[in-house]
Order: sequence, then C-alpha cells, then structure tokens
Amino acid sequence: MEHINFLAFAMPAFFLFLFLEYKIAQRRKRPEIFNYESSVSNISIGIAERLINLFIAASFYQLYYLIYDNYRIFDIPSNVFVWIALILATDFVWYWYHRLGHEVNFFWAAHIVHHHSEEFNFTAAARITTFQAVIRTGFWCVLPLLGFHPSMVITMLIVHGAYSFFTHTQLIGRIKWLEYVFVTPSVHGIHHASDEKYLDKNYGDMFTFWDRLFGTFQEEEEKPKYGLTHPLKSYSFLWQHFHYYFEIYELWKRSTGFKAKWKAVFGSPAHMDQDIRPTLEKRFLQDKANPHQRLRFKNYLYIQLGICTLFLTVFTYYFDWLYIPDKVFVLSIILVTLVNCGALLEQRRWIYYLEYLRIFMVTTYFLYQENLLSFFFIPLAIMIFAEQLFSLSTHYQNVVLQLERSE
Ligand SMILES: [Zn+2]
Ligand SMILES: [Zn+2]
Repeated sequence: MEHINFLAFAMPAFFLFLFLEYKIAQRRKRPEIFNYESSVSNISIGIAERLINLFIAASFYQLYYLIYDNYRIFDIPSNVFVWIALILATDFVWYWYHRLGHEVNFFWAAHIVHHHSEEFNFTAAARITTFQAVIRTGFWCVLPLLGFHPSMVITMLIVHGAYSFFTHTQLIGRIKWLEYVFVTPSVHGIHHASDEKYLDKNYGDMFTFWDRLFGTFQEEEEKPKYGLTHPLKSYSFLWQHFHYYFEIYELWKRSTGFKAKWKAVFGSPAHMDQDIRPTLEKRFLQDKANPHQRLRFKNYLYIQLGICTLFLTVFTYYFDWLYIPDKVFVLSIILVTLVNCGALLEQRRWIYYLEYLRIFMVTTYFLYQENLLSFFFIPLAIMIFAEQLFSLSTHYQNVVLQLERSE
C-alpha cells in the first residue's frame, strides 16, 4: 500500500463539498455566489497546481529532511505540546509568508492569482499556483531549521492546508466568539475584499491573534466586494499565471537607476504603475475571435474539466507506478486542455490549433505505446489534409463555439 498517494482523494472530496455549497447557495436563492467563467477558471488553476505538485512535492520534502538532518538548531522531541507549538509556529510563518506575499512585488506576482476571483466560494480556495507553492516551501523551511521533525511538519502542512479550504465560503456568516481565536469564513472573506477599509487585512490562515498582534485585523462590517482593486479582465489560463511577472518586467525596464529597478522587483505592489497592465493587455490579448460574444456551448468545457479531474485523480493515485513518458504525457495533455478551457472562455483565435495539437499528442502517445513512433507524421498529414479539404476550423467556430451575443 505504500505507493498509493492518498492525496488522490482530495479531488473527489473537493467536488463533493463544492456540489454541496452550490446546492445550498441555490436553495438559499443566492446564485450570485457562483459565476460560470470564474468557477471554470478557478478549478482549472487548481487542477494545474495539484498536477505539477505531484512532480515536485517529493523534492520539497527532501529539502525539509536535508535542512533538519544537517542544520537544525534545536532537538525538538515529539509530544502533544510540541504539536501545539508546531500549529502556532506554522500559522506564524504563514502570516509572514502571506503578508510579504501582499507587500513585495516578486511574491505578489505568485499570490495575486489567488485573489483574481471576484466570487468567494470553495473554487476560490483552489486558486493556488505552483509558484506560490515554491515560495511557500521556502518559508516552511524555517520549521525543520528550528528542529521540528519533517514528518510532523508535513502532517501539519496538510492539516493547515485543509483548514484554509473551509474558510472560502459565504454560506457561513459571522461567528463572533470564534473570531477571537480562529479565522472564520467571514474573517478570510475580508482578506479577499477590495473595499478600501478591508485592504491588506487578515493574513492569518488558522488564527486571528497574529493579525491582532501586528495591527492587521479587521472584522466584517459592510458586505465586502470580493476580488482585486484592479480586476484582471481575462480568463486566459496563461495570462492569469504570468501577467504580474510581465508587469514587473515592464516596470523594471521603465525604471532607471539601481534603486528604482530594485523597487520594481521587491517594492510594494501599491506602487505598481497602473497603466502597465492595459498596455500589456493590448500587446498580448488582442487576438479574440469574437470580443463581444460569450460561449454558449458550456458542456464542452464541463466535459474537458471532468476528464482532467478524473485523469488527475487516477494519476495521483498511481503516480509512483508510472513511467516517465506516461507522466510527461498526462502532464502535457492536462496542461494543454486547461489552456484550451481558458481560451474557449476567451474566444481566442488560435484555439483551433490547440485542438489539433491535442489530437496530435494523443495519437503520438499511442504510436509510442505501440512502438510505432516513427509513423508520427501520418496523423499530422491526415490533419493537414483534413483541414485543407474540409476547412474544419470554420466548422469548429460554427458548431463547437456556438456563439451568442452577450449584451
Ligand atoms: Zn492573500
Ligand atoms: Zn484565500
């Protein structure tokens, strides 16, 4: 049983809770809690993070062991008090990781993705990126360095991560007495708000006392407006992941002198030049096929996300048994599908070529399985001929996209 990765069960559990949240929201007549595009985009980003995590989690753990074995400062035993100390230490490290994630451009570039969503529900909890996971691991290294055993640290990180999932919902109102100690959905909702008085508040993940101690605590008063102060007007999978790195690079290019360039990378996001993003969007996102139309054929997206989730669940379960070519295939086919989902929402002109790419990847993989890889050009030739003879791209636009006016 040792090769089974039980994180595979996180995916069905996530969808079960999401389903319950959606049903309860419907019953309470609060449809505004969910938005189709934003849910698809949040889940896509979550799938990518879980997927890439499979490839790098082991190296995170090895790093904790390396630090613990060679550089630990104290020899901390394992008893019940140490577990309590570890919960507190984990949340304290989280507080500073999270706060710096909002105060330093380079870290914000990774963390901003978690804040794109203008809907606050369980899907927003899934909006974590691999960049964020890497930066966070850097911060977590403090724990084995102090002398907490890596196996304890790893267990605690799973508990800590699971807790924060449940704070992303609007269905639980204020629980005032609990807020003295614990982060509740209302407290974390304030962290996701863009109203002036709610900005840069409530960084804690489990406990509210770090925020109270460092003066960043804010309780819910007026109903918050969720999302960024300057919302990202794109559901492009890649743009959502990388836009802020491009913004930093652009600011860095525009800055003169060492101090200004340093500030571009490590300064505060509050000082980011606000006309950089529109300029970049003009440069990179002007390729919409139908800018004023919305997708009507939603089932196509659901099917793709459903297949990705199923693949990811099985893949996670059997990860240690698979060979590298299988792993690379699953990784790339899921990533291309997620880019495809974003491109569908965005009506990108190039989406059709992505469909070809995907077919090509699948056929090549099967040829490889059958030891016939040298025949890779056959599906390629068939696709080129099919496109020339039947202009499939036009049919695709008309049939699959089935666009409707969105006014
Ligand atoms: Zn945050
Ligand atoms: Zn959050």
